[in-house]
Amino acid sequence: MHGFALNDIFKIGIGPSSSHTMGPMHAAQHFMSNLEQTLGNGSLKVSVTLHGSLAATGDGHGTPGAVTAGLVGHHYETVTLPDIESIWDTATATGVMRSLSGHEIHFNPSHDLLRDMEPLASHPNGMTFRAWAGDALIDEKQYFSVGGGMVEDQMGHALATSPLPVGDAPFPYKSMEELVRWCDQEKLSIAQLQARNEHFCLKREEYDPIAAKLWAVMSDCIDRGLSTEGQLPGGLNVKRRASTLWNRLLNNSHGDKAPANAAQRAMVYAMAVNEENAAGGRLVTAPTNGAAGIVPAVLRAHLDEHKLNEAGVNRHVSTFLRTATAIGGLFKMNASISGAEVGCQGEVGAAASMAAAGLTAAMGGSPRQIENAAEIAVEHCLGLTCDPIGGLVQVPCIERNGMGAVKAIAASDLALAGDGQFMISLDQVIDTVRETGKDMDSRYKETARGGLAIHGLKIPVTAVEC
Ligand code: SF4
Repeated sequence: MHGFALNDIFKIGIGPSSSHTMGPMHAAQHFMSNLEQTLGNGSLKVSVTLHGSLAATGDGHGTPGAVTAGLVGHHYETVTLPDIESIWDTATATGVMRSLSGHEIHFNPSHDLLRDMEPLASHPNGMTFRAWAGDALIDEKQYFSVGGGMVEDQMGHALATSPLPVGDAPFPYKSMEELVRWCDQEKLSIAQLQARNEHFCLKREEYDPIAAKLWAVMSDCIDRGLSTEGQLPGGLNVKRRASTLWNRLLNNSHGDKAPANAAQRAMVYAMAVNEENAAGGRLVTAPTNGAAGIVPAVLRAHLDEHKLNEAGVNRHVSTFLRTATAIGGLFKMNASISGAEVGCQGEVGAAASMAAAGLTAAMGGSPRQIENAAEIAVEHCLGLTCDPIGGLVQVPCIERNGMGAVKAIAASDLALAGDGQFMISLDQVIDTVRETGKDMDSRYKETARGGLAIHGLKIPVTAVEC
């Protein structure tokens, strides 16, 4: 594995969960699309077994509807909540669905969607898909939802939005040290090198369509979160606060376009995104749904502060997101971005590190200053546990994204004030995330069996849906 692409780390999808909603939908869609290509016009009967954490999540957490929509051929990037509800109603009422490519699929969630509370050996989030033509079992495959919407098959190969194949990237790297060495040798910024690894030559003035598309979805999500009030679903009775907080900032600044300071704005932007996530809204994984608020919040706060023309905005967005991609890829390669594996240090910690790096790059920092910012941000998230109340990605997750955004801005400020010399490297801190995650008791890794999850218990715990 020699680096990740922009679309691997940042994926347009839906809430509330990258591992429990987006990943299972992608796995189901992949299983069926492979079968349909070889099937001709015949009909199929399908069963799906959810293992471990996915089984424990239950009907209320989105996995069954996501899998059913995936079997029909929907993808998380384009599916809507009404799509999922309509397919679910048809499947449960008739047991027969018509796929987007016209095949008849026999699947009734009430008896063809099975739950096995025991996790498979490879990962806590496993799935087994089986298909029959008549009485003959014609296919059986296992998939694993490994975090951030990424899915691996039983051979450990990533699906579709996959890491670049070994040898494919012109400047392969597996560590920050290798990445900085390439930048020095080729006289490229981290963002430019990241783009070239995707065979995309990013010149200073060039429009970056992939980054621009991601930013449009991120930005919409912030705006929706800032303008929506009410209560979040799930039974905790959590009230949305981003809208009220934003209006408070606006009033304090007498209606200025960019009220208060960047950290205050970023905190509210991050909470707006994570309230949208909790409500099942459209968003971009960054690198997961649970930690999706930090990167867009810091980027929006940065753009607020700089009066850029359209080309300038595009350039800063591209530089920010492509730099953040490189850092997120290092976490994925050398530790984890899954709360089930290493706790929240791999989600909010990784996101804060990515945002600090992106901001430092957009501010013109050197590769070593970017590394320093990324290292500071995650260093102060080490040991961060995952213990949300009720297993819902609401408390403490929404505020935690706000705090992560503030931390990212502070880390970038510290790094930009320095000379790129520092004691602990980013590679060392990422290794520490991995080792700390290994030592962390399972009660603090997306099981909702310890910490805040039990002290603040208000509704029955199932499993975390980050
Ligand atoms: S506490 Fe857990 S569920 Fe919440 S954001 Fe962190 S990793 Fe995700």
